[in-house]
Parts: sequence; structure tokens; C-alpha cells
Amino acid sequence: MSLSHTHVHESHDQLKDALDTLKQTGVRITPQRHAILEFLVESMTHPTADDIYKALEGKFPNMSVATVYNNLRVFREVGLVKELTYGDTSSRFDFVTTEHYHVICETCGKIVDFHYPGLDEVEQLAAHVTGFKISHHRMEIYGTCAECNHKDLH
Ligand SMILES: [Zn+2]
Ligand SMILES: [Zn+2]
Repeated sequence: MSLSHTHVHESHDQLKDALDTLKQTGVRITPQRHAILEFLVESMTHPTADDIYKALEGKFPNMSVATVYNNLRVFREVGLVKELTYGDTSSRFDFVTTEHYHVICETCGKIVDFHYPGLDEVEQLAAHVTGFKISHHRMEIYGTCAECNHKDLH
């Protein structure tokens, strides 16, 4: 009970911060943009443009998948979301909170966040060893999620 309350409170702040970022960068906040951001902040999954479209089409009957995608691109340009491209499936979108890694289920495609601050040093090490100016790094872990693993047992 207290856990879910904390989550609601945090996502409210995150949405407010995200809307402030949009205002500061001069991006107009339309009702659709508001709804898409809210969906991204609240969903713990990493939705595709299609997932977002399906979740919101009842609210915005005139909205197309292309509109959703264009709005996501705007959010990406101001740094609010990351576009995740893994393999040849359609892009998934991740609301940018803190730096985190992904573990990806090879059976159902589910992406779960996890933190591993121990790897932050790898950037300094790479810079030191190669003389590069490092911008970022990415790492993905692959396997089978608990649900898919469980299905295999039957
Ligand atoms: Zn799975
Ligand atoms: Zn993520």
C-alpha cells in the first residue's frame, strides 16, 4: 500500500518536471503530448509507439500512430525519452529517469530496468586508456524472464 502510494507521488513529480522541461524548451504542451508523457511516466514497461497509440486512442480518436511517433520524437530531441532499438522489432520508448540498464527477455521481448552504478567508472577508464572523449555507454543483458521460464516447465 505505502509502496504504490510512493510510486504515484514520484510519477506526479516526474510528470511535472517533464512538463517544465517542455515549457523551458518552448515545446507547446498539447493535450495529446500531456497524455503521452503521462502514459510514459506511469508505465513501467517500455512501450512502442503502437502500444501508446492503443492505450490512448479512446481518448483521442483523431490521433494516429504517426502523431504518437512524431510526439515521441519531439520528446527524444529535448531529452525526455530514450528510443530503444534492439534487434529488428519496432522501437520502444523509455522515459528518462536515472541511468539504468536493461535485461531483455529473448522469448517475449519484455525489457526490465535495473541499476548497476558499479559500471559508471568504465567511462573514465575508457577515456583514460584511449584518449577518447566519452559520451555514453550501453549494455544489454539477455535471457528468459521469470514468466517465460515458468511456462517452459509445463
Ligand atoms: Zn519473457
Ligand atoms: Zn528502461
